[in-house]
Amino acid sequence: MSEALATVSANGDGAVNPLRAGIASDRITDPCTIVFFGASGDLFKRMLLPAMYALRVRGILPNDFAIVGFSRSKYDDDAFRAYSKEQLDEFCPPDQRPQGAIWEDFERRISYITADFDNTKSYAALKKRLEQNDTELGTKGNRLFYLSTPPSVFPTIIEHLKHAGLNGGEHAEGWARIIIEKPFGTDLASARALQQTVDRVFRESEVYRIDHYLGKEPVQDIMALRFANTIFEPVWNRNYVESVQITAAEQLGVELRGGYYDNAGALRDMIQNHVMNLLALVAMEAPSGPDADAIRSEKFKVFSAIMPPTHDEVGSMSARGQYGAGQINGKPVQSYRDEPDVDPNSNTETFAAVKLHIDNWRWAGVPFYLRSGKRLAKKVSEIAVTFKPIPHRIYGERTDTIENNVLVMKIQPEEGVAMRFSAKVPGPKSHIRSVFMDFNYGTGFGVQSPPAYERLIGDAMRGDQTLFTRWDAVERAWEIVSPVLDVWENTKDFGFPNYPAGTQGPASARELFAEWRPL
Ligand code: NDP
Repeated sequence: MSEALATVSANGDGAVNPLRAGIASDRITDPCTIVFFGASGDLFKRMLLPAMYALRVRGILPNDFAIVGFSRSKYDDDAFRAYSKEQLDEFCPPDQRPQGAIWEDFERRISYITADFDNTKSYAALKKRLEQNDTELGTKGNRLFYLSTPPSVFPTIIEHLKHAGLNGGEHAEGWARIIIEKPFGTDLASARALQQTVDRVFRESEVYRIDHYLGKEPVQDIMALRFANTIFEPVWNRNYVESVQITAAEQLGVELRGGYYDNAGALRDMIQNHVMNLLALVAMEAPSGPDADAIRSEKFKVFSAIMPPTHDEVGSMSARGQYGAGQINGKPVQSYRDEPDVDPNSNTETFAAVKLHIDNWRWAGVPFYLRSGKRLAKKVSEIAVTFKPIPHRIYGERTDTIENNVLVMKIQPEEGVAMRFSAKVPGPKSHIRSVFMDFNYGTGFGVQSPPAYERLIGDAMRGDQTLFTRWDAVERAWEIVSPVLDVWENTKDFGFPNYPAGTQGPASARELFAEWRPL
């Protein structure tokens, strides 16, 4: 084990947590150059660059890797290295700040190309740099392209990669892969158009559509909980489950992303991708094995079994909202329409909820409720499976309510699993109260989950597509939400803003489903 890995796998007192004893180090990735398109942007400095450095500190990057930044802002290699150090100093946790021999080696592997995304000369310069890296840094002809740019320029970049001969193919010396940031399209038609461009240039096995939610450890734990235990699967169906609710709630508003968000809204930004992916993991059948396509095929089957609502059904199967001024943690916050770069008359939803049915043998008749919103009372992402009530009551005082069992998979900010069950209150009477069994991954395993981007970039460098979304699932998810988008776009008069910031969301969400877990 490398020195860096030994440090992270030990507890503060130097002893290894018994739950992690005997676990081998992470898999090292292939040598390659990773090219970040949009390296002067927000995502790169806050997430992608710190993820790369953490992979290096933890010994997961190979010795032979290189990073090329490719963006419009003007830097030379040295200036971009200095910029990168500043960002790492700001955005890395204290024990992973750049220093010493690791940083010196990392730094010399970074370079930058000041580029215009629509200029062939920029790609010729990139090609030259990649060849130079192969010779000087041992990157073996392997290239990973990361599109961290506005989606409007994705097709331009992809076409240019083809014309520059950078898209790999059978005769290339190494592999070429592409990571595409979300959103993948803004509706069904634009997603299909983007996919047509992708298809002309890359094979599906080379395409990594990122949904960073899938890189979060507790999301991966959903499958482990279901398929590495025997006790859940027998009750994981319509015979025992009353409903499933999936929540991705934020306290934050749109921050500095008002321009993007006002054209997107909660349904496109969260439900179509993150929340639908959670639904797939919780509802899918057991895959035949752990490989990427076995898992992704099962996820696609879930989406195939969801009938998109008809236009007439949208009203009774969805709810939307937009926040007005209110309070978050006791501090006043402005309304959505007053946020920077948001249209003061905007009708974009900052809260979306939908009810879906999965028409298959396992789930027929079980409603799945999905909700996501900004400026809600609490930041919480979770999946709650509510089981059916007990069939016959023999216990508890007359005034006691015996609540249904609930299994909660907690994704953020808490990461764990909790189970609600009924217990007798100590004493001579037979009072019944609901209590929780609560497991927290961080405390249990004595280690914090690595950030999602770290896991996902590492997987793409290794060629593991398991946690990336396949095109068929992206397309089907758009088909499912499309009727809702259509109806919402064509009925504008619905009294926004309709929930104050810092609350549970609009009243219409409770009309859709009265049993939402309180935020
Ligand atoms: P930014 O607007 O901060 O950055 C965009 C980058 O693209 C900048 O480096 C910009 O260069 C570059 N760029 C844009 N147009 C051109 C052009 N014509 N030629 C050359 N360079 C260009 O965006 P983000 O970093 O926030 O987001 C990037 C992607 O990641 C988007 O698809 C977004 O949806 C997605 N994403 C972002 C998240 C976030 O938290 N930021 C979260 C999840 C997804 P320059 O500044 O030098 O002009």
